[in-house]
Amino acid sequence: MDGSSPAWPLSYDDFEPWYTGAEQLYQVHGNGGEDPTEGHRSAPYPWPAVSHEPRIAEITAGLEKGGYHPFHAPCGIMLDEADRPRSHCIRCTWCDGYPCLVHAKSDAEVIGVRPALGAGNVTLLTGAEVTRLETDPAGRTVTGVVVARGGDREVYRGDMVALCAGAANSAKILLNSASDAHPHGLANGSDQVGRNYMFHNCLAVVALAKEKNDTVFQKTLGINDFYFGAPDYDYPAGNIQMIGKSNAEAMRGEKPKLTKLSPEWSLSDVAGHAVDFWLTTEDLPVPENRVTTDGDGNVHLAYTPTNNDEAARLYHELKKILNHTGMAEHHVLRKNFYMNMSIPVAGCAHQAGTCRFGTDPATSVLDTDCKAHELDNLYVVDTSFFPSIGAVNPALTAMANALRVGEHIRDRIAS
Ligand SMILES: Cc1cc2nc3c(=O)[nH]c(=O)nc-3n(C[C@H](O)[C@H](O)[C@H](O)COP(=O)(O)OP(=O)(O)OC[C@H]3O[C@@H](n4cnc5c(N)ncnc54)[C@H](O)[C@@H]3O)c2cc1C
Ligand code: SF4
Repeated sequence: MDGSSPAWPLSYDDFEPWYTGAEQLYQVHGNGGEDPTEGHRSAPYPWPAVSHEPRIAEITAGLEKGGYHPFHAPCGIMLDEADRPRSHCIRCTWCDGYPCLVHAKSDAEVIGVRPALGAGNVTLLTGAEVTRLETDPAGRTVTGVVVARGGDREVYRGDMVALCAGAANSAKILLNSASDAHPHGLANGSDQVGRNYMFHNCLAVVALAKEKNDTVFQKTLGINDFYFGAPDYDYPAGNIQMIGKSNAEAMRGEKPKLTKLSPEWSLSDVAGHAVDFWLTTEDLPVPENRVTTDGDGNVHLAYTPTNNDEAARLYHELKKILNHTGMAEHHVLRKNFYMNMSIPVAGCAHQAGTCRFGTDPATSVLDTDCKAHELDNLYVVDTSFFPSIGAVNPALTAMANALRVGEHIRDRIAS
């Protein structure tokens, strides 16, 4: 273990109503009470969990027999399994990492942006890149949002400004907004903007078995038995979940050297038997893991992984639990064969932490409402605010927090 994971200034109890609100809004499917690490909830999931397909049901049964506690992974897709003809989601194999062509993912575009466009008081600008934020001379109020659009410079103004460009780009914009009043970057008197970048210590694992895996939608199973530790291991190892079903093209893209000499049919055959897991271990908020910008305003990232021992331990536990599923004795190779791939920062999906929130302006960028300590009208409302990242997917927390801060901003505007 490389260090400790700092506590948040607000507790799970503070966030719980917002998590519930986000689950309702984003139509999350799940079965409350199955995940042994789950906190209390004030309302059930709005939709029943997405069902396992036969191969995943077999693996689940094997795990349960082995004494583990697999659960249905909560999922935000608009699938109505009780009424398939009218279901938006058609339960296809392209969910993971691809845009949904029938707009049936409960994502921010479908649930948030598109309905808001019909409200009449919302304008969406496309092809518009925010380059910097301007303030009044005292540096307390954002007075202009500078945008590069179609080769022109445009400036937008508003009483309140919410910066939501994602953990790397929000930090980039703040750092590029340095001024006399904020010489080290806007809202950066603490020197914390851009620091503590986290993106999870992740491993994708493909387990091969003799049985075919015909699963179409594979992301239905989660395992948190090692979230807080493992037998004879006291440190949190992390979360195991499924990822989208691998296919020959993706395998060739992900492992170009390993698969260079493989004919297409053999890769397809391998993919047809593959069971695909995603292992997530928490990485720590290290000040030196940081986003910076250069003289031209381009973003740079320094990142050294943490908790490699815990990630290795989680992989070890995955191999052990797969033996309980009967996969070992039927494996294609004489012993277990696992193709694993550490996910480098270029494959980052879960970035967070560059503008952490807190009560002390000396050690945090944002207050507990996600308002910049040093400004009166600037909020940062994306995963930048995370003081630590845990070992679970971050989107629901980003959504819950956006609802929380959104209500706060609405109340401020109304008062
Ligand atoms: C392939 C993939 C799969 C994922 N799967 C899951 C999952 O299953 N579960 C889960 O919980 N999380 C998942 N995530 C992570 C999740 O999508 C992110 O944690 C979440 O979207 C982060 O939200 P955000 O608001 O911080 O930033 P973003 O969603 O990245 O939003 C930032 C927005 O700002 C815009 N932007 C950036 N810079 C500028 C600029 N200068 N000017 C104007 N606009 C700008 C970007 O275009 C973007 O629209 C996945 C991510 C990826 C990439
Ligand atoms: S990509 Fe496929 S599985 Fe995912 S929401 Fe769309 S239709 Fe459903």
